Amino acid sequence: KPKQQPKSEKKKETKLGLTAKKDGDFGEWYSQVVVESEMISYYDVSGCYILRPYSFAIWDEIKNWFDAQIKEMGVQNAYFPLFITEDVLMTEKDHVEGFAPEVAWVTRSGNSELDRPIAIRPTSETVMYPYYAQWIRSHRDLPLRLNQWTNVVRWEFKHPTPFIRSREFLWQEGHTCFATQKEAETEVYDILDLYRRVYEELLAVPVCKGTKSSKEKFAGALFTTTVEAFVPQNGRGIQAATSHCLGQNFSKMFGIEFETEARERAHAWQNSWGLTTRSIGVMVMTHGDDKGLVLPPRVAQVQAVLIPIPNSKLGEAAVAALAARAADIEKALKAAGVRLTVDRRDNYTPGWKYNYWELRGVPLRIELGPKDMDAGVAMLAQRDTGAKQSLPWDQLAAAVPKLLEQIQAEMYGRARSEFDACIERVSTWDEFMAALDRKHMALGPWCDEEAAEEDVKKRSACKDAMGAKSLCIPLEQPELAPGTLCFVTGKPAKNFCLFGRSY
Ligand code: AMP
Repeated sequence: KPKQQPKSEKKKETKLGLTAKKDGDFGEWYSQVVVESEMISYYDVSGCYILRPYSFAIWDEIKNWFDAQIKEMGVQNAYFPLFITEDVLMTEKDHVEGFAPEVAWVTRSGNSELDRPIAIRPTSETVMYPYYAQWIRSHRDLPLRLNQWTNVVRWEFKHPTPFIRSREFLWQEGHTCFATQKEAETEVYDILDLYRRVYEELLAVPVCKGTKSSKEKFAGALFTTTVEAFVPQNGRGIQAATSHCLGQNFSKMFGIEFETEARERAHAWQNSWGLTTRSIGVMVMTHGDDKGLVLPPRVAQVQAVLIPIPNSKLGEAAVAALAARAADIEKALKAAGVRLTVDRRDNYTPGWKYNYWELRGVPLRIELGPKDMDAGVAMLAQRDTGAKQSLPWDQLAAAVPKLLEQIQAEMYGRARSEFDACIERVSTWDEFMAALDRKHMALGPWCDEEAAEEDVKKRSACKDAMGAKSLCIPLEQPELAPGTLCFVTGKPAKNFCLFGRSY
């Protein structure tokens, strides 16, 4: 049953703060954080959420960064329609089998039934490729590298969760064609590395790069590469973004052919790759705490909040001096490129304002009170660690941008240590189950066969949790000693695979 809005949304407006604990009821904590920080509102179609400005600003940051990177690589943006005819959707058999259960259909317009139902895109391979087939004639038309920033609809039956699993979500989807397998494969890994950078460098979220097993790969792909993230509180892995090499499967089905330099006919090599608003949810889960969001400075809409604290006992002149100093600091910090807000609201106490900005995860709070005025300093409080320091006014413009970078790096560093500590090397089934029981991932040698995965899923299921599955075969592999056996089947191992319970 889909989760209803958290109990807290019904609380009185004036009370701030979360009632659920991150280490207690994690699901309720997450719902409260995303609602109370004004990232999302629940919507009356289950599995759909309103992205409010506070989260959309983060999506904009991700989008701006990634968009610039792919344009630099030679990718262009375009836009294709939302609807797909039934015939076209059915073109690639494996692909349609993978997506069919989640496709939403339009069957009626006004009062009249449509002759043929029309699908709403769950992804756009089948929307785009018939036209790629028309546009590509010769090797001179290649590579063709297009991307679109859109919404897609997947009528998921698994429990919906804001950002993480929604029925409509925002993403970018890249769809590219090359003359050679080599060029296509190079791009798959270049894009995968950009996805890693979105997570690690922007969102301060550690990921593991890898390849999906053949069971878990994208429907219709030759192979799928992935960045996998992990949520320690509930011990679940999460597929953070995927870059697929489609090989020639789709180009054969859709007739994407070209004449080579040697005047022969050949099918294009294709990729598709996507990153969604799920990334925001993973960031919230990674960094948030019992007080609310903790945002990495690089994506925070407000990086620092300045709170002037005029004391009611101060005389008029002192109040004016404090206001003037706050304005000076504001000017200096904005000129230094800091995304700063000054909270001048006079109907709230300083304590209430602290809670308000903490709930919203603003990385740095700058307090300016009567004592600071006397000493010529401002007090800086970090959201991530609570660390405080006071700094002379004339040092702020140089120090604050550096401190924000330091916070960004330290947030990533802590999350990376925690991620790494959650991976256990296993070589037997008992070790594997013990790792899962500790809410960890398990990296073990395996035979790379689908039957082994089925086995893992079945045997690791318990009354509280679905069975574990393969998350990825990490690109960076430990050395596999000759004679190593699969920890599931006992057959000769082919590589090391990361397994875990997952979203
Ligand atoms: P795919 O086209 O299936 O490879 O999906 C691309 C990416 O979308 C996946 O790697 C997930 O990170 C993300 N994703 C898949 N389903 C959802 C969903 N229901 N809501 C949000 N993100 C999703």
